Amino acid sequence: MDLHSYRVAPGQKLELSNWDPNDTGDIADKSEARQLLKIERKRIVALQERLFAEAQQSLLVILQATDTGGKDGTIKHVLKGVNQQGCRVRAFKVPNSVELAHDFLWRYHQHTPRDGYMMVFNRSHYEDVIVVRVKNLVEEEVWSKRYEQINDFERMLTANNTRVLKFYLHISKDEQKERLQARLDDPEKHWKFSTRDLAERARWDAYQVAFHDAIAKCSTDYAPWYVVPANNKWYRNLVVARVIANTLEEMNPQFPPPEPGLEDIVIAD
Ligand code: AMP
Ligand code: MG
Repeated sequence: MDLHSYRVAPGQKLELSNWDPNDTGDIADKSEARQLLKIERKRIVALQERLFAEAQQSLLVILQATDTGGKDGTIKHVLKGVNQQGCRVRAFKVPNSVELAHDFLWRYHQHTPRDGYMMVFNRSHYEDVIVVRVKNLVEEEVWSKRYEQINDFERMLTANNTRVLKFYLHISKDEQKERLQARLDDPEKHWKFSTRDLAERARWDAYQVAFHDAIAKCSTDYAPWYVVPANNKWYRNLVVARVIANTLEEMNPQFPPPEPGLEDIVIAD
């Protein structure tokens, strides 16, 4: 699996329609992917414990996708077994009136990870150049300046010991149709279905343009975007898990040094 091929280089010419959402790399099938995912999860769990113990740096993982793209499922499968003590998930919905009365980054900044933590954003500040743009919630004059502001924000986080990773879960329009249909057919999935999703689906092309620009303008060397083939959930989970594990390994968190003289201590009865 060539993870590098999913990473968008700064300034790289990007044509989302040329990225195959069915790609499964060199993975034969679901059962192989599941075995490999277990290995990646073990790496993540072990490294995250070190990150927490070290408490000197943190990791911010951003998940973006169209509706049914698999953000919730990715969180469920990739983070399984991670110590809750050092890991948080935050989902961002339509901003409330207090949030709207501030600059667009305000509500996100409050949830960036503290030292030692891994934080996952289910949707993020990218909504402010995606849904906001597609639905004309602010003027172009306003949203068009946000790409640079986002890059500045992420650069600032990185300079303050927060690693930033961004994943776009790439599914096809046909796959979305199947997943929406599944939500209609299965009573246990009805809660996930909203008729609003149909209105969003009707804007598919506009969303693709908005995702494209967000990824193309904001994939930096310090906070890269990954375009993850996501029609197959098992491959999607494996790619995301492997990138997270590799990144934690690069961050190389260390257990803090012990107090001196531990070897001489005898615990009294
Ligand atoms: P869900 O993730 O399915 O629970 O839906 C959350 C909804 O909140 C989606 O329709 C998003 O488009 C919307 N949303 C998230 N962030 C923003 C934002 N900054 N501005 C407007 N809508 C947003
Ligand atoms: Mg939804």
